[in-house]
Amino acid sequence: MKIFIDQGHGGSDPGAVSKIKESEFTLSYGYELGRVLMVLGFEVMYSRTSDYAVSLAERCRMANTWGADYFISIHFNSGGGIGIETFALSAGGQGEKLAKAVQGPIIDATGAVNRGVKFANFQVLRDTSMPAILIEGGFVDSDIDAQKIKTEDYKRKFIQGATKGICAFTGVNWNDPYAVIVQPPSIVEDKDIYLSVRVLQSKADQAIKDINKLGFAAKKLDLA
Ligand SMILES: [Zn+2]
Repeated sequence: MKIFIDQGHGGSDPGAVSKIKESEFTLSYGYELGRVLMVLGFEVMYSRTSDYAVSLAERCRMANTWGADYFISIHFNSGGGIGIETFALSAGGQGEKLAKAVQGPIIDATGAVNRGVKFANFQVLRDTSMPAILIEGGFVDSDIDAQKIKTEDYKRKFIQGATKGICAFTGVNWNDPYAVIVQPPSIVEDKDIYLSVRVLQSKADQAIKDINKLGFAAKKLDLA
């Protein structure tokens, strides 16, 4: 399944600039969204990969030519509000369903003010030939939102919510991309750890294998 990630603005067009610069965060949030979607098994294409301008027509053309299944545009808001909202082109289509599928989990994960799903005749929603949504991930001119948007914690929660919604909508199994993976104990090279075990001499080889399964790097048993 192919997801086109459109990181709003860039280069000569910084987007909304207030407490923070919109284009900087659309780039980093969009990049992370795409990275996690790839881990979850989606194919991803980005509208931009660093700080340069891409026209709205070009963004649509890229997604259409690539044959994306879904188009997700990332923006941040301004104008004196607070919270997160997701846009689709019009009511009743797949775009609205996708917008609803991501808006709920993003609000659940971030705890942000829920501004709901809205409709707008934005060019990237209108001129794309697949279901398309545009997420406004918070207000760059709100002290509260801007402070949160800058943190890794909020970004992760946003990505958790967005990917959960996308997976639910597309029927793909969702795994928490930030779940802590428990590593086996690491062995400090220059310090041996002496483990006292009691085994039959004939079982020594098997004992070494079993100990190594616990994450150690046992090579030999000193028989006592
Ligand atoms: Zn924007």
